[in-house]
Amino acid sequence: MRILLVEDDADLSRQMQNGLKIAGYTVDHADNGEDGHFLGDTEPYDAAILDLGLPIMDGASILKKWRRDGRKMPVMILTARDSWTEKVEGLDAGADDYLTKPFVMEELLARLRALIRRSAGQTSPLLEAGPVILDTRNGKVALNGTAIKLTALEFKLLSYMMHHQSKIVSRTELTEHIYAQDFDRDSNTIEVFVNRIRRKLDVPLITTVRGLGYRLEWEDAKD
Ligand code: CA
Repeated sequence: MRILLVEDDADLSRQMQNGLKIAGYTVDHADNGEDGHFLGDTEPYDAAILDLGLPIMDGASILKKWRRDGRKMPVMILTARDSWTEKVEGLDAGADDYLTKPFVMEELLARLRALIRRSAGQTSPLLEAGPVILDTRNGKVALNGTAIKLTALEFKLLSYMMHHQSKIVSRTELTEHIYAQDFDRDSNTIEVFVNRIRRKLDVPLITTVRGLGYRLEWEDAKD
């Protein structure tokens, strides 16, 4: 899952980037409104965290432009304490949630998980596909109750596919959602990761859809 963070406070954005990365997210960061707007306009994100007070272009203007131009990713705005007008303006501009500064990282992460699973049409923090369960709260994956060890990239890929079960996802889409913008991407490595996940899970969960990509789906016994 790939997150856009638009925040101009250097210390706060460093802390947030660390916390997000530890939680298993890929993060692109912009420290001004212009760059933030551009990234959200051109790159696919699973969610954006948007400060409202920003240099060059303010957060509410960015959000209005994104929504007017059809950008649908869930957006959480960061607002000043006690400013109900900011919250109202931000929500009316198209925000899906808000968080008041100062906040604790755990709350940010919990709200982000909720935003991402809602936008993917999932209701539970536990993503299930037959014998495989991915717990989005702690990043743990289990097969028939036994923990499976995945690398950070394998986890990102599996998490994206578990959020988008039964849908065909292309290699390009997977590449875009697990690597940051400045990363030297190679969509051929996706197949390597998929094969490693298949070996580790050892159940028929991810099928290759020739020419299109992959589909993660648990076929019930009735088939
Ligand atoms: Ca600010």
